[in-house]
Amino acid sequence: MSEVRDMVIVGGGPVGLFGAFYAGFRGMKATVLEALPEVGGQLTVLYPSKYIYDVAGFPKIMAKDLVANLLEQARRYDQEIRTEEPAQNLIRHDDGTFTVTTPKGEYRTRSVLITAGIGQFTPNTLDRPGVKEYEGKGVFYFVRDPMTFKDKRVLVVGGGDSAVDFALMLVGVAKSVTLIHRRDRFRAHESSVKELFASPVNVRLHHELKEVRGDGEKPVEAVIFHNQTQEEDTLPVDAVILALGYRANLGPIADWGLELEGRNIKVNCRMETSIPGVFAAGDVVYVEGIGNLKLLVLGFAQAALAVNVAKIHVDPTAKLFPGHSSNLAQAAAKS
Ligand SMILES: Cc1cc2nc3c(=O)[nH]c(=O)nc-3n(C[C@H](O)[C@H](O)[C@H](O)COP(=O)(O)OP(=O)(O)OC[C@H]3O[C@@H](n4cnc5c(N)ncnc54)[C@H](O)[C@@H]3O)c2cc1C
Repeated sequence: MSEVRDMVIVGGGPVGLFGAFYAGFRGMKATVLEALPEVGGQLTVLYPSKYIYDVAGFPKIMAKDLVANLLEQARRYDQEIRTEEPAQNLIRHDDGTFTVTTPKGEYRTRSVLITAGIGQFTPNTLDRPGVKEYEGKGVFYFVRDPMTFKDKRVLVVGGGDSAVDFALMLVGVAKSVTLIHRRDRFRAHESSVKELFASPVNVRLHHELKEVRGDGEKPVEAVIFHNQTQEEDTLPVDAVILALGYRANLGPIADWGLELEGRNIKVNCRMETSIPGVFAAGDVVYVEGIGNLKLLVLGFAQAALAVNVAKIHVDPTAKLFPGHSSNLAQAAAKS
């Protein structure tokens, strides 16, 4: 029989990475399976250069720096982290172990922690002339590195947090930033909207994108229109960012026979799913009596709780309480 690890963690977002650290802290060998080429989940894909203010111990930390720290923390215990390996099937064996399959391999394990977040996500696009043609060549869905837009004339399309954050992030980097939104109000956080209206971003409400025109290589101009007067305007642009939200899909996990609540996996207060030995934490869960608050700090706490409970599942002689990591550090320092 192939190697049986203590835990397979499905999803290498922030919660999965912290789960990997915590599993190591509890003496459990874990393998993290991440569908995307990079770990970090939403922090890496959607807002790497945005500051986060509500992670305990960090008055302010940039999302990508938090991911780097989480990765370093997980690597403390040499946990295996495999990217571009979407988990596909969950096979239950008679001895209580599981096999998680991916297109590249099969991973036998005593427990499973699902931290698949909002699932495998794809950004919403717009069916407008030029959008498909210039995708990746000037039409983007995320701001991974603001410097990509240095000295460029940028048009951001959207009215949610991502659109407003992207526009603000590019102030002082891009040559100019225009933000269009089809409604008269933004759905973004109040403080961001306040900041937006005090910023040099050119905000055009009731406006939509009609067309992206280019020279065959890159966008050159964007045609926008006022959706009440139908009046058109042509803006010179080097880049268009479509921040129109994304579609999330649990994908194959939805067929694993777990009890679901909508698109979320139902867990009890011990982070146990309806399948013994399978746990879940983070954005993917629906906690009985609470629902889902989708916050990093809660996800981290849930991952720690799930691992502590999984430890007892894997080794019934173990204690739920893990002890304090500071004591381990003292012991390590003495030895
Ligand atoms: C713009 C924005 C700003 C935010 N700001 C804050 C903030 O300031 N503070 C805060 O607390 N929270 C914030 N959040 C929420 C926070 O990002 C999420 O709560 C957090 O990312 C949840 O982490 P997670 O690991 O559960 O899921 P995710 O970050 O979604 O990661 C899940 C990972 O699982 C992978 N995956 C999915 N399916 C599979 C599969 N079948 N196999 C393998 N891998 C799979 C995905 O590719 C992804 O990498 C923000 C969210 C957004 C969108």
